[in-house]
Amino acid sequence: MRIITAKYIFIDNEYKENMAIAFNRKIGRIDKLDILKKDFNDAQIIEFQGEVVIYPGFINLHTHLEFSANKATLKLGDFIKWLYSVIENREELIKELDNNIIEFAINEMLKSGVTTFGAISSFGADLKACAEAKQRVIFFNEVIGSNPAMVDALFSDFKIRLQESMEYKSQKFYPAVAIHSPYAVHPFLIREVLNIAKKENLLISTHFLESPYEREWLESGKGAFREFFQRFFNTSTPVTTIQEFLNHFKNIKTLFTHCTQATKDELEFINNHNHSIIHCPRSNRLLNCGVLDIKEVKNLLLATDGLSSNYSLSILDELKAALFLHSNIEPNSLALNLINSITTNAANALELKVGKIQKGYFADFAILRVPDDLKDKEDIPLHSIINSKVEAVFIDGQRVI
Ligand SMILES: [Zn+2]
Repeated sequence: MRIITAKYIFIDNEYKENMAIAFNRKIGRIDKLDILKKDFNDAQIIEFQGEVVIYPGFINLHTHLEFSANKATLKLGDFIKWLYSVIENREELIKELDNNIIEFAINEMLKSGVTTFGAISSFGADLKACAEAKQRVIFFNEVIGSNPAMVDALFSDFKIRLQESMEYKSQKFYPAVAIHSPYAVHPFLIREVLNIAKKENLLISTHFLESPYEREWLESGKGAFREFFQRFFNTSTPVTTIQEFLNHFKNIKTLFTHCTQATKDELEFINNHNHSIIHCPRSNRLLNCGVLDIKEVKNLLLATDGLSSNYSLSILDELKAALFLHSNIEPNSLALNLINSITTNAANALELKVGKIQKGYFADFAILRVPDDLKDKEDIPLHSIINSKVEAVFIDGQRVI
């Protein structure tokens, strides 16, 4: 057993003082330092001096590592222009991709305190790097394809990728599934993939109502998506409606990503069915998709999205952006909500032993130093976001930074 302590420990959404954590790979006990020292008298003590906060390791549940070679190839500023540029350049970007590029991206997350991340994998090109990552990984094998003639082939390809990822299954690596979006996945594929997910007890993620174009297309079959679908898929009819799509997820807990164009009713449906919403504010801004009304979200999760639509995978950068984007919310309470969105809320969404400092949870910690002159405990969340430095990171009880 080892013991770790600092001035503050984030437990039950509060900054507790004079506490310490005894841990191996998992958290054994949380108590006052003197008591733990007495009870585990041969334990190594790790003590951080000064204004330091021990958080549970941060969780970033939405990224696309296969696009990590992109810096400025893909077009920003408008979702549909971006989408055309993805189609045009994806092969080139995948060709440029190697394990070093993916490892660099994974390491950038680690340096910002991320100890668990969710990778949306479209091709399986990131499988090896994710399996070898220091962090815990939720590996979302993505299914995409709306053309009925292609559905069987796409489903087979998905199953092969899923099977390959299953071989790496461990307490560090969790195979999962992703359904691309309402507009790009045929209902047959959605049903089949959800059946597999239910049977194998796999986590599910989907993009949902990211851009105004998506909403227009699903509602009326019109707008910029119509031209896009006619050009690439020779169709001018959407494969589903918004409500039909949502109905697939009535009985299965799902992570809905973006939802920037969802109505209050649709957000309520998501809330009422125990789902979570992943919010990627920088990506949404850069693709001009609008701003998610986070006040209407019950279980909010913050994530970076991929380097295909962002300029860094640092979760601290994302927290900063979210803090400034949602200027209609008081900064101190917003800051605490945002900290929760990468810890406690993520724990609720995942049902894994991560995201909380609690007995039996993995000893994954993100340890932040906040300014020395911090006087009021209430200011910790805000300064954790605008004014902190990652002091150390632990995963599985091991110090990795
Ligand atoms: Zn995405």
